[in-house]
Amino acid sequence: MIRNLAEILGIGVDTFTKDSALEYIEKKRGHVVTINPEMIINANKNSEFKEIINNADLVIPDGIGVEIGLKILGHRVKRIAGIEFGKELLYNAAKSGGKVALIGAKPEVISLAKKKLESEFENLNIIYTHDGYFAQPTEIYEKLIETAPDLILVALGSPKQEMFISKIKDKLPNSIMIGLGGSFDVWSGMSKRAPLIYQKMGLEWLYRAIKEPKRFKRIFPTIPLFLLNVLVERITKK
Ligand code: UDP
Repeated sequence: MIRNLAEILGIGVDTFTKDSALEYIEKKRGHVVTINPEMIINANKNSEFKEIINNADLVIPDGIGVEIGLKILGHRVKRIAGIEFGKELLYNAAKSGGKVALIGAKPEVISLAKKKLESEFENLNIIYTHDGYFAQPTEIYEKLIETAPDLILVALGSPKQEMFISKIKDKLPNSIMIGLGGSFDVWSGMSKRAPLIYQKMGLEWLYRAIKEPKRFKRIFPTIPLFLLNVLVERITKK
């Protein structure tokens, strides 16, 4: 299996289906980025972040924005929701007896998420958790290197989670590491995922933006800006 990247505003996005992305990363191991328009805009303002994404082992299009952007540029790629991809990785880890670590979210959220996941997946082996509100990652890095989990889910929000993973990935060549944004909040039951109708229409971002006014302010200007930049890219690359 080889990667076939579609480029959008300087970011390479994998064109795998969900199943082949899973198969690919289970063999390859390494850093998985779940990319969205806001991250692409940020990466174009922050070269370190851009390099981290472009050095990742798999970049999946998390959400409708990237799917539309890629379509404008002539690539047919289906979105893969990061939160669902995370669950598939957990399922595989539970099946194979792999060790799992969860890093991120508030202490009460992560402990609830751990319990819920353990009751959902029989034989899930969560060997380490740490909340996402730490001053220094040193102690967490040491623990991860010592235990070498097969799967490390990091939910610190972006770009924190990608930065966190990039600093340790070389020391953990056999781990799959993925940044999952607010997934632990959803898995803990503390925050609800958008109703299915929003998910199916690709409007999950809109639901979350309406529910969280702070997010609305942050996300809303980036979507038109992202699409505008993509249109400019399309015109100038012809
Ligand atoms: N978070 C964290 N440490 C921080 C900041 C955020 O653990 O220093 C957690 C936060 O509690 C939430 C998650 O990161 O569970 C993702 O936040 P958000 O939904 O804003 O991220 P997005 O999905 O937009 O990337």
